[in-house]
Amino acid sequence: MKELKPCPFCGSDMVEFVPDEKQLIKNTTTGFIWCYCCDFTSDSFYNKKIATRKWNRRADPKNKLLNKPLTLKQLQQMDGAPVWIENGMESKWCIVGSSEWFIYGFTDPEICGGKYGKTCFAYAHKPEGSD
Ligand SMILES: [Zn+2]
Repeated sequence: MKELKPCPFCGSDMVEFVPDEKQLIKNTTTGFIWCYCCDFTSDSFYNKKIATRKWNRRADPKNKLLNKPLTLKQLQQMDGAPVWIENGMESKWCIVGSSEWFIYGFTDPEICGGKYGKTCFAYAHKPEGSD
C-alpha cells in the first residue's frame, strides 16, 4: 500500500485512511481521509486503495511550468483530487467532487458563480508567486 501524500491544505503528513463507523457495503471497507493536523475530512471512498489513489493523484511536479488552468472536463475526471482554486477574491486548495469543498464552492455563487474560466480558475499545482 502506497503511503498517503501530505495534506494539501496544511502540508501535514499526519493523514490517515479512517474506516467509516457504519459500514453499509459488503466485501469492502469504506472510509475517508482524515488530516489530524487541520481536521480536514474527505468524502467517503469505496475502499482504502481507491481513497489512496485519488488522494495521491496530483500532477507531476516536473509539469509545473506547464501549470495551466484545468478545463471543466478535466475537473470532472478529477473526482477526489486536490486542486488549487483562484477566483480573484481568494485562493485555496479544494477537493474536486467533495460536497464541502470544490463542487459546493464551485456551484455556489459566493465562490465561482458560473464564472469558471473567466475569473475563477482551478490548477493542479499552486501557481508560482501566489499565496
Ligand atoms: Zn491538513
